[in-house]
Parts: sequence; structure tokens; C-alpha cells
Amino acid sequence: MSKIIETDIVIIGAGPVGLFTVFEAGLLGLNCHLIDNLDKVGGQCIELYPEKPIYDIPGVANQTGKEHVDALLEQIKPFDYQTHLNQRVDLLEELPDNYWKVITSEKIEFKAKNVFIAAGAGAFEPRKPPVEEPDKFLANGVDYSIKDKSKYADKEIAIFGGGDSALDWSVELSKIAKKIYLVHRRDDFRGAEHTEKQMRSLVNTGAIELKIPYVIKSIVGDSSFEGLELMHFETKEDEILKCDESLFFFGLNKQLGPILEWGIDLEGKKISVDTENYQTNKEGIFAVGDINTYPGKLDLILCGFHETTIAVQEAYKRINPGKRVPFGYTTSNKGLQEKLGVK
Ligand SMILES: Cc1cc2nc3c(=O)[nH]c(=O)nc-3n(C[C@H](O)[C@H](O)[C@H](O)COP(=O)(O)OP(=O)(O)OC[C@H]3O[C@@H](n4cnc5c(N)ncnc54)[C@H](O)[C@@H]3O)c2cc1C
Repeated sequence: MSKIIETDIVIIGAGPVGLFTVFEAGLLGLNCHLIDNLDKVGGQCIELYPEKPIYDIPGVANQTGKEHVDALLEQIKPFDYQTHLNQRVDLLEELPDNYWKVITSEKIEFKAKNVFIAAGAGAFEPRKPPVEEPDKFLANGVDYSIKDKSKYADKEIAIFGGGDSALDWSVELSKIAKKIYLVHRRDDFRGAEHTEKQMRSLVNTGAIELKIPYVIKSIVGDSSFEGLELMHFETKEDEILKCDESLFFFGLNKQLGPILEWGIDLEGKKISVDTENYQTNKEGIFAVGDINTYPGKLDLILCGFHETTIAVQEAYKRINPGKRVPFGYTTSNKGLQEKLGVK
């Protein structure tokens, strides 16, 4: 176990509400560590609808999911926070003196008086290929996301999927790979039109070979990854595809997963909160955004922003007992403007 990171607020989930928590905490001088299971911040906005316009962010006539996340990242730039991606929070445990311990799947350990669960509908987990022991060669021939592109230099890579991730990475990795095999069950892609065009022109140059209509049947190799057994979707004939690496982009499932085991009061698949401060039944554990529920709850970004603004006030009180929570308008409060870097 590496060193323990101590912070004011640990935020589980870097969706829009987790990101805005950094802003509200920053205004009160609190620092945060944000953790997300995905390889990027932005939650549903980035993962499910990056190109779709949102029309109900107050004061913003319209903004795509990606533009919204970019704007939130710009807004929290002045503040003291760190992001830990590609890891799920697996453990939440009470410590003495009103502290909580949080441990991630990468075994990073945090200690904080406040934990904000901004986990949406749960951690996005990759859908795995429907084969025996899909994870037998995980990170050694089989991957569901890319952490370091250099791993794929000069390699023969099989990429599975018909959406944006499969298309984007086929195009991107073709710049460094020896060869890309793009495997899909039909000659019809759901990704952006311009990326599909780029992919098809790379097929013409030979950098990408389309394996259509094929599906995965098994992963080949006893002690190490050797390639894949594919099945022609129509003739049902099998074929061995020898390659060095495989990437499966079959979409994501949402899993509440470990959250169910933390002893927090739930209502269905949501966390019950007190609307005075959006605290759960455990002091110092808050739930904000789509993950929580209370009478009248709406799963909207602006509702999550309100909830976390109120919750951060209580978090401040837990860190500074007996102190009044400072309040000011960003338009006129010089102290707040200094924190925001306004000159
Ligand atoms: C197609 C579509 C269109 C939408 N349009 C609108 C709209 O127009 N206006 C609007 O207001 N809302 C809209 N929404 C809803 C909006 O996207 C959600 O309300 C918002 O994303 C909730 O934000 P959040 O931060 O609470 O959670 P999310 O965006 O769901 O983010 C939660 C994050 O937590 C991570 N996570 C969960 N558990 C763990 C764990 N244990 N460890 C680590 N990470 C974890 C997840 O990986 C995820 O990235 C739309 C939703 C969809 C699907």
C-alpha cells in the first residue's frame, strides 16, 4: 500500500456534479481528490452524449455534453484538486476522530473528514466479451480501455466494436501500430460519420483490415495471449486471428457495486439523503447528483449543482467546527475573486 493521501473532501465520481463540487469546495478554501472508474472525467455527459446539446443549464442557451464538461474544467482550474482515473472506489471505512478511509481498486488510500458520493447511476464498467475467462489475459493481450498508447506501437491489434471508441482508436492506433484488425458483426457503424470515413480510407491504404461480419468465439493461448478465435456471423465458420493485443469496446454497464456494501441507507438503487445538507445516514458521507434520492428528486445536472453547493457548507463545518461558513457573492467579494484568480 502506498502512502495515505489526506484531503478535505474525497469525491467519488467525476461527472458534472463531482466536478462542480471542486468549485464550491474551492470557494470555501477546501481541497479535493476526485476519483473515477472511467479513463476521463465528465460522467454521463462525456460517456453517453458528448455531441448532444443540453438546453437546461441555467444561463447557457445550449452546450454539448463535451462543451459542458470543458467549461466545468475551466471553472475549477484555479482550485486545489487532483484527479485519479481508471479506478473504482471499493472500500469506505470509518476511522476515529470523524475521519473516513477510502481505498480504490488501484490500492490508493485516502483519509478525509468528508466523502462526497457523486456516483451517478454507479460505476461505468466495460461490457466484456461473451467468452470463457475473458479476463485471463487482462492487461496482457486483452484490454477494455487504453491507459498508455505506447503499449500498442508496432503491434498487431484486434479492435472489437461498432461505436465511437472502436472507430476512434482504430484510426488513432493505426498511426503507431503494425496493423489493425477492426472486427464487427455487421458493416454498419454507430460512430461519428467523419471518423468512419477516416477509418475506411485507412482500410484502402492497408493500415486497417476490416473483419466483417465476425464475432469473438474465444481467446487463444494457454500461458500467454496468442490471438483470437473468430466466427463468421453468417457461415458460422471459425477462423484464428493471430495478433499481439486485443481491445474490446462493447459499451459500458452501470454497476452500483461496492456502494451497496458501505452500510449507507438506500432506497432502491439510490442513496437516501437529508435535504438540509445532502448527508446520508453516516455523518461525513454525502450523496449528490443522480445517485441520491429524496422527495421530489429530479435527475438533472442543475439539481446536482444545488445539492452539492449546500452539502459543501456542512463539509466546511466538519473541518472547522464552531466556525461560521463564509458566504459571499462571486460578483462582489474580493476574497472569492482572489481565489478565482480575478485581477
Ligand atoms: C442521453 C442523456 C441526455 C441527458 N440530457 C440531460 C439534459 O439535457 N439536462 C440535464 O440536466 N441532464 C441530462 N441528462 C442527465 C445528466 O447527464 C445527469 O443528471 C448527470 O450526468 C448526473 O451527474 P452526476 O455527476 O451525478 O453523475 P454521472 O454523470 O453519472 O457521473 C458519475 C460518475 O461516477 C463514476 N463512479 C460511480 N461509482 C464509482 C466508484 N465506485 N468509483 C469510481 N467512480 C465511480 C462513474 O464512472 C461516472 O463517471 C441526460 C442523460 C442522458 C443519458
